[in-house]
Amino acid sequence: QSAAHALAIDRLEVHYQGITALRGVSLQIKQGEIFTLIGPNGAGKSSLVNAVTGIVPSTGSIEFGGREFNRLPSYQRARLGVIQVPEGRRVIAPLSVLENLMLGREALGARKGDVQADLDRVFALFPILAERRQQLSGTLSGGQQQMLAIGRALMGHPRVLLLDEPSLGLAPVIIADVFRAIRRLNEEGMTIFLVEQNARLALETAHRAAVLEQGRIVKQGEADVLAHDPEVEEHYFGQA
Ligand code: ATP
Repeated sequence: QSAAHALAIDRLEVHYQGITALRGVSLQIKQGEIFTLIGPNGAGKSSLVNAVTGIVPSTGSIEFGGREFNRLPSYQRARLGVIQVPEGRRVIAPLSVLENLMLGREALGARKGDVQADLDRVFALFPILAERRQQLSGTLSGGQQQMLAIGRALMGHPRVLLLDEPSLGLAPVIIADVFRAIRRLNEEGMTIFLVEQNARLALETAHRAAVLEQGRIVKQGEADVLAHDPEVEEHYFGQA
């Protein structure tokens, strides 16, 4: 009911044949914040993102802008502005950068309005994509593909942007570029839901955070508080 909550997730469960990936997850994402979900491999982070965007079915409630939304098909959620950047980027390799962006725009809602303005916004955020607009996406570097995956999502005018492991497999300098772009989008007013294995980076970037383990939220709070939590440091800061 509160518009201050972009997303209110209540008792969400995801089951695959025989496997329970989420066991009653309740979370609230506030309008205008960066919220991050950290946790080990297989904790259910991708399942949560996919449940919110409707790519996997879930039970429980998801309110978006105060309205129950968990019965809607994925394309309608995208049209309302809940859009994800999938894990592993998934750009369409044999199509050009421009074609991927145009396809994103259609797939995410086929909006009327100014296509060029939408492209200009993506190109302002990631100038390299403007330079490479005719290049086949499969020949881009991993970092450029990640930028394209974000750009494609932006073509759908997200109000909440969900990013699943945007740092995966990228070199540190490229990760810094991608995260700078994420912060900039947030500063322009976009609500961000960030799933990351790199807990240190995620907690540096986010306002609030939760830790997911075996399908359950085991901790949540202000990101800078969690960043100094001894258990978080011990379990999640090992590698980075
Ligand atoms: P990762 O970082 O490896 O992606 P994760 O925290 O995102 O991990 P999920 O991918 O959501 O976790 O997986 C949660 C659990 O559900 C795991 O046990 C996983 O093997 C299982 N799982 C995920 N997708 C499916 C599926 N399509 N069918 C069956 N089981 C699945």
